[in-house]
Amino acid sequence: MPWPFIFFPFAVFRFSFYLPSMESSISRSQTRSIESITALFEQQKQHQYEVARSSVRARIKKLKRLKNCILKYRSQIQEALYNDFRKHPSEVDMTEIYPTTSEIKHTCAHLKDWMCDEKVVTPIALLGSTSYIHKEPKGVVLIISPWNFPINLTFGPLVSAIAAGNCVILKPSEHTPHASSIMRKIVEECFDEKEVALVEGAVETAQQLLSLPFNHIFFTGSPAVGKIVMGAAAKNLASVTLELGGKSPTIVDETASVDVAARRIAWGKFVNNGQICIAPDYVFVHKSKMPAFKDKIKSYIHKFYSEDPSQEVSYARMVNNNHYKRVLGYQEDAINKGAHVIHGGKTKHEEDYIEPTLLENVPMDSELMTEEIFGPLLPLHSYENIDDVIKIINGREKPLALYIYSRNKKKINHILNNTRAGGSCINHTGVHFYNTHLPFGGSNNSGIGKAGGKAGFDAFTNNRGILKQNMPNALELLTPPYNNFKQKLIDFTIKYL
Ligand code: NAD
Repeated sequence: MPWPFIFFPFAVFRFSFYLPSMESSISRSQTRSIESITALFEQQKQHQYEVARSSVRARIKKLKRLKNCILKYRSQIQEALYNDFRKHPSEVDMTEIYPTTSEIKHTCAHLKDWMCDEKVVTPIALLGSTSYIHKEPKGVVLIISPWNFPINLTFGPLVSAIAAGNCVILKPSEHTPHASSIMRKIVEECFDEKEVALVEGAVETAQQLLSLPFNHIFFTGSPAVGKIVMGAAAKNLASVTLELGGKSPTIVDETASVDVAARRIAWGKFVNNGQICIAPDYVFVHKSKMPAFKDKIKSYIHKFYSEDPSQEVSYARMVNNNHYKRVLGYQEDAINKGAHVIHGGKTKHEEDYIEPTLLENVPMDSELMTEEIFGPLLPLHSYENIDDVIKIINGREKPLALYIYSRNKKKINHILNNTRAGGSCINHTGVHFYNTHLPFGGSNNSGIGKAGGKAGFDAFTNNRGILKQNMPNALELLTPPYNNFKQKLIDFTIKYL
């Protein structure tokens, strides 16, 4: 497990050192005309073969240049994220900088193996030939990213795309303009735009980009927009990787350590103000553990964010007023249908601040239980029979993540074998994302394809199957015109080879 996640959930930090100023030195957003976007795309199309021919060494050099540049601008990235939604610099380090630099290090360490031609077996029927898989880049690719982890979710896929030898256009979210601006600066400093370019803009810009015949589209965002992206990709038969969201359930069973579960759930839920695709969206706690769990999770919320989280610099904000209102709308709907707040509930409209909030009695048909929350509200449900919980989970779309807190192997396997999810952690929250050896992504509604490490490299790679005929083979005896002898050979081939 990466070091920050060994230590972080077990310690409560109080930061009083450096906090960036709200004044940003970052330049204003630059949008491009459709003509300029098309010209950029054409330029990359022309240049793609040169990039594709680049050696392992050349690609590693580019990745290291990117890493050094990210580190050079580390404090400006922290400042940007603070300006975008008051994210603490240490949280920026842990959830934006570290995942990107660790992805680069992992990729550089393994790229030679990933890029190598892969020899495969030759069947006897094809005797006289050899076959191998050649890893060729897809070509010119588009990466569209969301705002919740803008650096990590833009540069992470970029690392895989560069490693695979592609030309890349990046389109980050319009909702974190400071992050987009510093990313553009980094991209412009590291790359010629005929190889990698970052285009700022909102939905219209995304749609202009999507109308172009990219060879692959890597999209991270909501399932609703994922469907639009896939529809646009279909017009050009572009392949897609869709990293989507959804509601990630968490189960705390009767054998779990309540202390561990409460601490790790509180951390995984309220980091980034709950605006995390793999945050626990709702928790099922075994009836026997519920009273202790409620006490513990409240006490960890206090420990992490003090009695008044609005004064605690470690606690981020909702990204904007629309999302603030969206989340409070879900809460109001749930309360109108019988839910009640058992912890938190305070808000500050002018700051887009919502206190870490726990709710009980949340009806299954309320928006809080049907929509992805993506904010600091956590519904708690108690259960007696795990199969009832499994039935509820399986009655919904497949989640991006499913978390199990348990000390019983049989019970863990029962849940794993009877549910479906993009990924899972046992006795932790969200940290599977940080293991670069694991593929990361969803399944159906929560995503198509996987990202990170080798899986990310594969997403941007075409596995070109190549057969080399070295000497005449038996198939040459089977060319037309057909006769009895040839038919016997065919019969023999079908039966024995
Ligand atoms: P979003 O889908 O609204 O936007 C994502 C990107 O798509 C942005 O760059 C945006 O400009 C663009 N976009 C928005 N509407 C578009 C349209 N109609 N046509 C074309 N492009 C459009 O998502 P968001 O609000 O930025 O992020 C939150 C969502 O992302 C949540 O659902 C979350 O679960 C998901 N997410 C998933 C992952 C993952 O790795 N699976 C990671 C982070 C976030």
